[in-house]
Formats: sequence, structure tokens, C-alpha cells
Amino acid sequence: MVKTEKISEQDLKELTKFSPDDGLVVSLYLDVDGAKYPRILECEKILHALIDQAKQDWVEGDQLADKDQRKGVARDLGLIRDFINGQWQRNGTKGLAIFSCLDEGFWQIYELPVSVPSALIVGREPYAKTLTAVLNKYARLCVVSVDRKKSRLFTVYLGTIEEEQGVFVDEWVPDQVKAGDWAALRQSRIARHIDDHVMHHLKDIAAVTYDTFLENDCEHLVFSGHVETLPKFKQVLHPHLRERVVGEFFLDPDAPPQDFLEHTLRIEEQVREEFEGALVRHLEDESAPGGLGVRGLSETLAALVRGQVDTLLIAEGYTDSGFVCYTDHYQATEAGDCPVCGRSLSEAADVIEDMVQLAINQNVQVEYIAADNPFSERDRVGALLRYAQPRAAAG
Ligand SMILES: [Zn+2]
Repeated sequence: MVKTEKISEQDLKELTKFSPDDGLVVSLYLDVDGAKYPRILECEKILHALIDQAKQDWVEGDQLADKDQRKGVARDLGLIRDFINGQWQRNGTKGLAIFSCLDEGFWQIYELPVSVPSALIVGREPYAKTLTAVLNKYARLCVVSVDRKKSRLFTVYLGTIEEEQGVFVDEWVPDQVKAGDWAALRQSRIARHIDDHVMHHLKDIAAVTYDTFLENDCEHLVFSGHVETLPKFKQVLHPHLRERVVGEFFLDPDAPPQDFLEHTLRIEEQVREEFEGALVRHLEDESAPGGLGVRGLSETLAALVRGQVDTLLIAEGYTDSGFVCYTDHYQATEAGDCPVCGRSLSEAADVIEDMVQLAINQNVQVEYIAADNPFSERDRVGALLRYAQPRAAAG
């Protein structure tokens, strides 16, 4: 039931697909980062405050007319509180996400190795935006430390590092050609013999790297190694992997995994920044009339509802109100009737969350843009389209 680091896009899709018939879903995000809160009691205090507030709003207040829904929310809030106060252990978890709708037997927990802003949301569907943003920010990386004798492999995801079983040591590579009375011929033969062994070792490592990369669904490859060894390693590496190299550094092959992680995270941050920069520039280029880009909430919403969107760009932390039909997943910036069922649209406190839900279910790529990118102040939301916008109907 508890899913940890290996949370996948598939999990996210299943989460966003869940939509109860009558009941409401309680979504809790809790920052349980031990660096910020050494005592778990402090996290529990925040949790209790969130739960008390939600009780006031949704159970005791007049926000909900439906008695069964009130009861349902009260049960879910109690269940979450009891779970965290009782059996739950923090261990290394920094962020906790819980989605509960007991009426429909729905209960999901994600323990994240990165912190999340604490929030409790009651709604018709699981509040997935925070989780999407977390998953989106981190790529899966494969790190290979290459040495002429000893090599190590790591995978890095969500700010954590895991070392692949076993170090790969080639016992047969002699350290160096010893100086002495060797005949010149013999000397060069030994040197060639060492070279052969090193190449053989590098080829083995390249093969293991390839398997690890694919098995772990990695997106990028990072090297650690000596300037003399790396070019040789690149030669024997599968071209598919060579295209996915995003950076390199040099660490002692026996350095602790944490050191490899730190270097890799710095590279990852840079890669992410460059990617976001390129994406925003691409959107700007496509935003001219007839282009494959839209910017701003109302145009982006309209394109998403039409099923035109290929990639959705959202400024990190952006929220906005809007109007939604939860049955037909129609969304608009203005109040009105749903064009599908004709009923009046419900007010949504955060229509951006509803956009993310719809986008994930349409297989749209959702990308969060960092707050310091100009996009995040100017447009805040935009989309790259699968096909050009239809011309506005006349009259
Ligand atoms: Zn409708």
C-alpha cells in the first residue's frame, strides 16, 4: 500500500483518474523534512492545525449541504490523523502525500524523499498538482564512475542515490608497465596487453551501464572519471546512451555515494534550467498568430478543453480560480453553463489543479517552470499545441 521513491507516471495517472460518484476526496501534503523539523511532534502540530481548519470548513461549517459528504470528510480526516499519530514512521521521508476517500475504499500514501509544502485540500478529485510538480522536477539519472580498474554504477531519482549491486573490478589490469631491463619489444607488447584489458573492462562496464540505464527508465547519463579514461569509455558506449550524457565530473572511485549525489544534483539542476529556458523560448516563437503556442489562462484553458495541447507549461506555485463541470471535465475562466450537459459550472478555487488533472488524463506533458523564469511572472500558464488553433468562428 505504501509507495515510495519509485512512484511513477502510471501511479499519477491512476491517481488523477479516481473520481468518486458522491463522496469527496481529502488530499493531504505534509512537510516532514527532518532538517526543518527535527522533532516529529512539530509536524504533527501542523497536521492537527490543518485538520482542525478543514473540520471547521467542511464538517461544522455550512460549506457542505450534503450530510453524507460531511460525514465522509470527517471520517477521512480522522483516518489520516490516526494513521500519522499511530503506525506511521518517518524514517527518511521528507514529504508525505495521502489521498483518502473511505466511502469508496480509496486510500493512497506516497512517501517522498523530497519535502512538499503542507496543505490539506478537500475536493471532488485527488489534488495531484503538488505531486506532479515534484515528479516533474526530478529526472531519473544513471551515474557511472569509470576507472581503468574499478567502476561503480548509481541511479539518482528524487534527490536520492542508490548504488547498483557490486563494484566492477578488473583484477587483470596491471597497474603500470614496470621500468626495468625489458626489451623494447616486450615493453610495447605489455603496454598493448594492458590497453586490451582496459578496453575489455570498459566494454563490460558499458554493457552493464546500458542495462542499468534501461531497467531504471533513466533519462540522462552522468560520468565520473579521469579525463584519459572517459574518451575511451565514450567510444565503447552504446550511441543511444552517448546522446543522453548531460555532464561529467571527477571523483575518487571510492568516494561515498553522497558525494556522487551532490555532483549529480548540481548537473541535474543545470539541465532542468536549460530545458525550461528552451521550452519557454519555443513557446514564445510559436505564439505568433497561426503558430503552435498559446499563452495566458483563458487561451490555454480553451486549447486544453479542445484536446489541442501537447505540452502544458505552468509557473511553479501558480493558482487561479475558474469554473468547471466535474462530470464532463469542461473548464472555463468565466461562469456559465457546461456546453456538454447544460448544467451551470461549479466554481473551482484552483482551476490550475483541474487543468493538471485533465492534462494528465489526456496524456499531455505537464512542465512546471521555475519562479525565476520570466514566464512565471508574465504568462504563468501556456501550452504548445498538437495542431494550430482553429480560426475564431465568425459572428
Ligand atoms: Zn457538463
